[in-house]
Amino acid sequence: MAPGSQPPPDLRQALGLRQAVGLQEFTTWRVGGPAEWFAEPADQQQLVALLAWAAQGGMPYRVIGAGSNLLIADQGLAGLTICNRRLQGSRLNAASGVVEAEAGEPIPSLARKLARAGLHGLEWAVGIPGTVGGAAVMNAGAQGGCTAEWLDSVLVLDPARPAEPYRIAAADLNFDYRHSRLQREALVVLSARFQLEPGHDPAEITARTSANLHSRTSSQPYQQPSCGSVFRNPEPEKAGRLIEALGLKGTRIGGAEVSPIHANFIVNSDNATAADIDALIALVQQRVEQAAGISLHPEVKRLGFPPVGD
Ligand SMILES: Cc1cc2nc3c(=O)[nH]c(=O)nc-3n(C[C@H](O)[C@H](O)[C@H](O)COP(=O)(O)OP(=O)(O)OC[C@H]3O[C@@H](n4cnc5c(N)ncnc54)[C@H](O)[C@@H]3O)c2cc1C
Repeated sequence: MAPGSQPPPDLRQALGLRQAVGLQEFTTWRVGGPAEWFAEPADQQQLVALLAWAAQGGMPYRVIGAGSNLLIADQGLAGLTICNRRLQGSRLNAASGVVEAEAGEPIPSLARKLARAGLHGLEWAVGIPGTVGGAAVMNAGAQGGCTAEWLDSVLVLDPARPAEPYRIAAADLNFDYRHSRLQREALVVLSARFQLEPGHDPAEITARTSANLHSRTSSQPYQQPSCGSVFRNPEPEKAGRLIEALGLKGTRIGGAEVSPIHANFIVNSDNATAADIDALIALVQQRVEQAAGISLHPEVKRLGFPPVGD
């Protein structure tokens, strides 16, 4: 199919394809223009068929999870956007500590489920509002823990060979701070296998998980739309401390604001556009560079914007 042409109605229905779908409701920042084509596959078969359809038409595509680390341009996204959040579920073996979770499984739900089973490892993940797939791609982490530490492997799909999913060991994913090789390669994560520590007291793990959530919700602006921390920490410095030291808390552009609660969060406090947020990111970068000679690099993924050298 040529890019821009319409798929026949029966194919459109079979693939669950929708046209010109606003992406605000699929990102935690609540911004983003329309996806030219959009789908939320109900199962792996539909996901494979969608990828095949995009490949056949030479159409750009991307898979997103909970949209909790995305800044999507107001102009929207050309091609196909696949939201993975319906592909949920997990199987765990409480005795061995091995857990296989679908890529669309919310990582906070998984963390709670593991706590109830007395499995130690993902207590830090309870406050991260993303999916298992997004956590593997981003090497999400918090409160001293990160995905790479507990991941055994991921099951991925190469859209060029969609009929043959294969497994990549965590050791081969080049994990680093908020980075994995999956960010550079166009592979789709179908599921992730974790090796956790079995045999713990469920009440103890549950209490630790709840305490982690409480410490985050009491120190971060969880009530307002955001994408969490905007900038990577330029170790040994903390981005939030650098921004706060310059008195930038509360700085606004349009409806975007540097959170008065946590300076590394930019919140959508009043109908912000992606352009407002993008401009505020640039302003903060410029001010920190001028004052401290430190370049702040966004942790958040920008989609639909011209590339920047980050
Ligand atoms: C309030 C708040 C707090 C946060 N706190 C933290 C924190 O403490 N630590 C932290 O690390 N992050 C944090 N984040 C950021 C975010 O939640 C994480 O980066 C999370 O792992 C992103 O998961 P997601 O499913 O939302 O991915 P998305 O934002 O949807 O996507 C992120 C990237 O992963 C890719 N992707 C997603 N799923 C797949 C898949 N199945 N296959 C291939 N590629 C895929 C996307 O294409 C994109 O490049 C926070 C965000 C918010 C809103």
